[in-house]
Amino acid sequence: MLSQKQLENFAELAVRVGANMQQGQEVVIRCDVQCADFAHLIAQKAYEFGAKRVHMQWRDEVLGRIEMLNASEETLSQVPEYLLAQSDYYIKHNVCLISISAGDPNILKGCDPNKIKTSNLANMQANKEFRNATMSNLLRWTIVSIPTRAWAQQVFAGEDPDVAVDKMWNAIGRIMRLDADNPTEAWRKHIDTLHRRARFLNEHNFEYIHLTNAHGTDLRVGLATDHQWIAAEEMGQDGIPFTANMPTEEIFTAPHNRKIDGKVVNALPLVNSGNVIDGFEIVFREGRVVDYQAKVGYDALKNILTTDDGVLSLGEIALIGKHSPIAESGILFYNTLFDENASCHLAFGASYPTTVKGGNEMTDEQLAAHGMNQSLQHVDFMVGTKDIDIDGIAYDGSVTPLFRDGEWVI
Ligand code: ZN
Ligand code: ZN
Repeated sequence: MLSQKQLENFAELAVRVGANMQQGQEVVIRCDVQCADFAHLIAQKAYEFGAKRVHMQWRDEVLGRIEMLNASEETLSQVPEYLLAQSDYYIKHNVCLISISAGDPNILKGCDPNKIKTSNLANMQANKEFRNATMSNLLRWTIVSIPTRAWAQQVFAGEDPDVAVDKMWNAIGRIMRLDADNPTEAWRKHIDTLHRRARFLNEHNFEYIHLTNAHGTDLRVGLATDHQWIAAEEMGQDGIPFTANMPTEEIFTAPHNRKIDGKVVNALPLVNSGNVIDGFEIVFREGRVVDYQAKVGYDALKNILTTDDGVLSLGEIALIGKHSPIAESGILFYNTLFDENASCHLAFGASYPTTVKGGNEMTDEQLAAHGMNQSLQHVDFMVGTKDIDIDGIAYDGSVTPLFRDGEWVI
């Protein structure tokens, strides 16, 4: 367990480095009811640093399961109007959003996959505007994570629940650099390293990124025209920087959705909508998935890949060295926030408009012309094994090594 001081430092990181809340701003904290204590600590910190008002958007994963088992598919296809009004209020009042991502990765195990799909689709459609507001950095936002009992028990299988929760707090404490004398300063230094590498990649303006490993991955990922690599801090549309993911170790940009060829094999399980998908490989031709297989969770993978047309291409490529604190912890968290920061990853579906120069001012047609992918989905999956080699290939064909044996060489 972390000390009270460490917990307060953690809450402060979420408010000041993560969402970078400004004085007089309204804040939305989105989290499961199991995380109430930590949410209250964040609310307290937000007010200390000058929040105007703090809104709680409680989630309840157990109720979610009860609903999935009992509500009709028709009911699940409808999203109550007051929730839409709530999102409108958040956009209109220019809130910043702090999400606590924590929960049982298997909470929906055994539920009807059709109902899950219907419910996800309805929610994605209803949340489209709010999601656009966060994905385009109109609103500043951040995601942090803390242990819940069911989740910790899955991560530390076989441990007593209390021990598992304790171990997970310790791991998260190290990953969040809460053992540093001044965690906020430690984060500034970390962010500077990531920014230096992002500058290197941007200066080279590679046409392709080539990934290979002994697993069977041999994939050429073309990059969107005028793409830009982004790391750690992003710029809000109001010119105020924020750090969307805490922890973050990734440097990412947008693939060109018509220039992806080859085969990629996953490196870590993919947890999506309460399902675990593993042992899968995906074949791309001219930017689109043309074949896929999975040893575990094939139906769940199929569910993702039949959402819409855009999900069959990629919206993100992200690079992370194997010596990141998350990778070194050796822990599989069954949670994207951590696992995607442990490993190089790709994402099926939507790209972030911010990953192309001037993207926020472009129409959908202009984005598409740059090779930017569009979809209701954005699903990250991990491809960075300990032996992965990655090269940048310039427009003149010259090759620059970026990774050897799973780690940065720049
Ligand atoms: Zn990512
Ligand atoms: Zn992603």
